[in-house]
Amino acid sequence: MTPLTALSTIRRMEEGQLPAPEELARLLSPDGEVLRDALFEAADRVREKHCGKAVHVRAIIEFSNVCRCECAYCGLHAKNSNVVRYQMTEEEILAAAKDAVEAGYQTVILQSGEDLSYSRETVGRLVSSIKRVGNVAITLSLGERPFADYAYWRECGADRYLIKHEISDETVYNRYHPHSSFQNRLACQRELSRLGYELGGGFMTGLPGQTPLTLANDLLLLKKMGVAMAGIGPYICHGETALRGNPDGDVNLTLRVVAAARLLLPRANLPSTTAVNVKGGLTNALNCGANVIMQKATPYKYRNLYDIYPGRDSKDVPLKEQYEALRAQLSALGRTIYENGDG
Ligand code: SAH
Repeated sequence: MTPLTALSTIRRMEEGQLPAPEELARLLSPDGEVLRDALFEAADRVREKHCGKAVHVRAIIEFSNVCRCECAYCGLHAKNSNVVRYQMTEEEILAAAKDAVEAGYQTVILQSGEDLSYSRETVGRLVSSIKRVGNVAITLSLGERPFADYAYWRECGADRYLIKHEISDETVYNRYHPHSSFQNRLACQRELSRLGYELGGGFMTGLPGQTPLTLANDLLLLKKMGVAMAGIGPYICHGETALRGNPDGDVNLTLRVVAAARLLLPRANLPSTTAVNVKGGLTNALNCGANVIMQKATPYKYRNLYDIYPGRDSKDVPLKEQYEALRAQLSALGRTIYENGDG
């Protein structure tokens, strides 16, 4: 493909046309790299038009690193006996959520490994209690659970659920997730949408086995599943996993994929994911389509134990300070924090 045809792919996507998978794959292949600036500029225009300058800021509380799964890329997989496991109590989780709300965060994301010791009722109670703290939206990210759990938490007031498809190649997905299946993951996504959750999807870039065509299909799958939010982050290699020794995903490629996601999903919430932030891509992500920032609000004594991938932060900054530093950073970029209530 000549640069000219790839440029017309960008133009047509900006006008709302759906590209063929092969065409999108070419744009995301190494050959498409020369059009990076054109892609970023188009994504920035679409973000400005549909989302404006306001950035949604979310606080993520990683309340347990206990996990029954065996994901090939994740440092917290069940068989990693080097992990010091923790489980926050209900009181600790509620206190962390209150802290986040008081600091200014308008969405609280509760995330954990697949830890079934937090029962349907416990999580439901947490959701209702946090809802009483203030006008706050709640996102759950607890992996695959029985559909009755999802239904109950929705009744308790949960607004969104984040569960990524991780990689759209079914064979590779099933190899990396021996405890479950690609079809089950998608069934969870469909059920969550049916229950009225705002569905958050997403995937990693640079996972071994992923090609430009996989990436194109990853993006088109987001569209097909009707996600309201998509977290796209680089794979970061963890030395205590089945995939140890593989290279990290490339941040530059990740940003091109985020930009393409913006063209395909003009109104979606697209975060600069924590993995992008770890790799220093935050500012760039906001200039190529992202309109959401996810920041950690996990108490410091647990933060570095949530070792999904290496490169976690360790400076003990109070949440209010973290929030205000972000406000200053955004303002320097000509952006603002969305503060009109998410809940
Ligand atoms: N257990 C829940 C919560 C997920 S962990 C679930 O399964 O949905 C949150 C996200 O971290 C995952 O969806 C995955 O995309 C990302 N992640 C895990 N390991 C990673 C790694 N090594 N590099 C980059 N991202 C990773």
